[in-house]
Amino acid sequence: MTAQPFLSFALPELGDDEIAEVVDTLKSGWITTGPKAKRFEQAFAEFLGDPQIECIAVNSATAGLHLALEAIGLGPGDEVITTTHTFTATAEVVRYLGADVKLVDVDPATLNIAIDAIEAAITPRTKAILPVHYAGLAVDMLAVLDIARRHGLRVIEDAAHALPTTLEKELIGTLGSDATVFSFYANKTMTTGEGGMLVTRNPELAKRARVMRLHGMSRDAFDRFTAKVPSWYYEIVAPGFKYNLTDIAAALGLHQLKRLPAFQTRREQIAMRYHEAFADLPILLPPDAPEGDVHSWHLYVIRLADEAGITRDAFIEGMFAAGIGCSVHYVPLHLHPYWRDRYGLTPEQFPQSQKFFERTVSLPLYTAMNDADVERVIAAVRGLLA
Ligand SMILES: *Cc1c(COP(=O)(O)O)cnc(C)c1O
Repeated sequence: MTAQPFLSFALPELGDDEIAEVVDTLKSGWITTGPKAKRFEQAFAEFLGDPQIECIAVNSATAGLHLALEAIGLGPGDEVITTTHTFTATAEVVRYLGADVKLVDVDPATLNIAIDAIEAAITPRTKAILPVHYAGLAVDMLAVLDIARRHGLRVIEDAAHALPTTLEKELIGTLGSDATVFSFYANKTMTTGEGGMLVTRNPELAKRARVMRLHGMSRDAFDRFTAKVPSWYYEIVAPGFKYNLTDIAAALGLHQLKRLPAFQTRREQIAMRYHEAFADLPILLPPDAPEGDVHSWHLYVIRLADEAGITRDAFIEGMFAAGIGCSVHYVPLHLHPYWRDRYGLTPEQFPQSQKFFERTVSLPLYTAMNDADVERVIAAVRGLLA
């Protein structure tokens, strides 16, 4: 028997339509932000299904989060409450602006930010709450928005995992926070290679983010070359950033977005197959969305039970030995030297996140996997645990 090729933890699924659109862009002569970035923003707004929502394409979700926080006026002396169980990008953007991060623990049932902990972390300096829809399961935004309303706080959602995710049948991005940011990084539920989308119903926030997206120019490159005012004229109103999405990337996004519902169906199918195949094993399965709601299944994260008889590290090594890539999402922020030292954090302050981290493994789950790949993952997991 020949050894099977290594099964990557994550791979994008890019087809002929994406490739043809990129080639068309390259041949068009307009390779930076232009007509396709604009079309991608319009298509994204249509996908969200609300004409009140403005979509601002950016070159990463990190950039989008930075722009959203800048636009609400976050600055030194302010605090932002977020989950310790996230990628560092969620929190680093707060530091870009000189504000401070208040990390809180997760709810073990959802692995999302613990709602009680948010309220307990509020101080007179708190300016915003930054929830993360972990793995693609919606945070209880009704509770978050209620806390924000009662305390006069802003809410920016890190929806890097949450496309398409719903809460009470409404898509994340349409729920009434100040802004929501999606990621199109290579391993996310749709990709532009690198890219992101800032969405908001607040016209002032949108205006500021558009200006700051491109050097603080009073209009972006597309408008500059098509509007009636002289094409060479622009004004700088602030020291902005270079966060625009290229048309090459938007070309990918236009087709990935069309495929998103089919992608979600396939991801859910794989997740349900894993659920069924692992039901008798000593692991805790990832939480499902409530009945009637959509989980994006960006990640399939299992927790090894006490009686599993194998450590997290040995489990991942065993999977690698079987030719299967796994990962850990995440090493919580409170364990990273920068965050730990800046805020004097200890694992005891985050018991749920800490316990979860010590037992968690993310299994491969992506649309480019075929059924044989899925069964291979199942066989390897059962081989280590059954
Ligand atoms: C991927 C990710 C980001 C950053 O997305 P980029 O598009 O790579 O900047 C932010 N937050 C979370 C939770 C992520 O998983």
